[in-house]
Amino acid sequence: MLDTAKSSAGSINPFEVALKQLDEAAKLIKLDKGLHQVLANPKRVLTVSLPVKMDNGEIRVFTGFRSQHNDARGPYKGGIRYHPQVTVDEVKALSMWMTWKCAVADIPYGGGKGGIICNPKEMSTSELERLTRRYAYAIADIIGPHTDIPAPDVYTGGKEMAWIMDTYSALKGNYVQPEVITGKPIAIGGSLGRNEATGRGLAFTVREAAKKLKINMKSATVAVQGFGNAGQFASQLVEEQGATVIAASDSKGGVYNKAGMKVEALRKHKEKTGSVVGFPGAKSISNEELLETDCTILIPAALENQITAKNAGKIKAKLVAEAANGPTTPEADDILYKNKVLTIPDILANGGGVTVSYFEWLQNLRREYWSEAEVNERLDRNITKSFLDTYTTSEKYGVNMRKASTVLAVNRVVEAIQLRGLWP
Ligand code: GLU
Repeated sequence: MLDTAKSSAGSINPFEVALKQLDEAAKLIKLDKGLHQVLANPKRVLTVSLPVKMDNGEIRVFTGFRSQHNDARGPYKGGIRYHPQVTVDEVKALSMWMTWKCAVADIPYGGGKGGIICNPKEMSTSELERLTRRYAYAIADIIGPHTDIPAPDVYTGGKEMAWIMDTYSALKGNYVQPEVITGKPIAIGGSLGRNEATGRGLAFTVREAAKKLKINMKSATVAVQGFGNAGQFASQLVEEQGATVIAASDSKGGVYNKAGMKVEALRKHKEKTGSVVGFPGAKSISNEELLETDCTILIPAALENQITAKNAGKIKAKLVAEAANGPTTPEADDILYKNKVLTIPDILANGGGVTVSYFEWLQNLRREYWSEAEVNERLDRNITKSFLDTYTTSEKYGVNMRKASTVLAVNRVVEAIQLRGLWP
């Protein structure tokens, strides 16, 4: 069960990718060896086994993880992923990326991530509820509003967050503790704008990158791999800037139409049929073909390790904006950079999600509510600054945006570690 070599995205180990990215940043800033070691290891990784009564009366035992990478800048923060190929190394990598993401966004959090090896598509709502509550119970002692604040990730959403909040609150003897988790439904303390936040933040970074590359959004074409929460909102908001979506895919396959496809129509089609496949007027393409589509902007919004040394040279987009975490390997990064493809790295491009999670947490702690316009304005200001900080760093060091964003993040985390010192 605990296959550490493969993750939900295939045979490349994401933790090795994350370590390589850290190594490259460490080299650039001549990071102290000891501090490098501190950052290379999560502070704590918890593995839990979760017995769940299935609808047919059988007991099944699932495996779950919570990795807490670093909390020098604030409580651990990061989502929980439900996927059949979750591995402990994948969760460790994702927790390290959360540390960098929160530092790039300059919000007062560290990085954490959770995952359960399961196939939510084959489970009933009541089975999912029992699994989620059992997981919440199993990690309750290491999470908390000022310790570790989970959120949604692949195949989890408001529904799971509500169960976790409820279970945690009941265990702690409180009527409600909304600030223990973010990404909640609005009715129980969620924030307006949180659901769209990852896609919206990504669209803001695309807008800024387009200015740098002198891309005219009105004539830009877009291919989006993964038509889930992030992919849908990202493509919709990029479409609002004038661009045309010409290719989209999900786990069942992809569709292409040179003349363009309206995101709203694609969404409705997926809602009705369960996939973008079969969208009227479009021809079918594979997920691999989608990545190599002749387009201006490519948005990988699915899983890790999609752009590798094998296909990076065939990417025709001028701009890659990473809604997914870890979609590009370090070798592929170098090829894209050489080919003058600008990549807006995951820890910058999809940081809108955790940024609005932070806003949700602030609203919960203060028991106040912000308007959607206020949330979106603050997100725009925050992520635009992060983009410009990263861009300046990339020019300063003469490196790609991934290395620049990691350098920026590592510097911020290291400063916090040094100021706090080692204790005990
Ligand atoms: N799972 C999302 C991410 O990878 C959101 C995390 C959060 O809001 O804490 O960034």
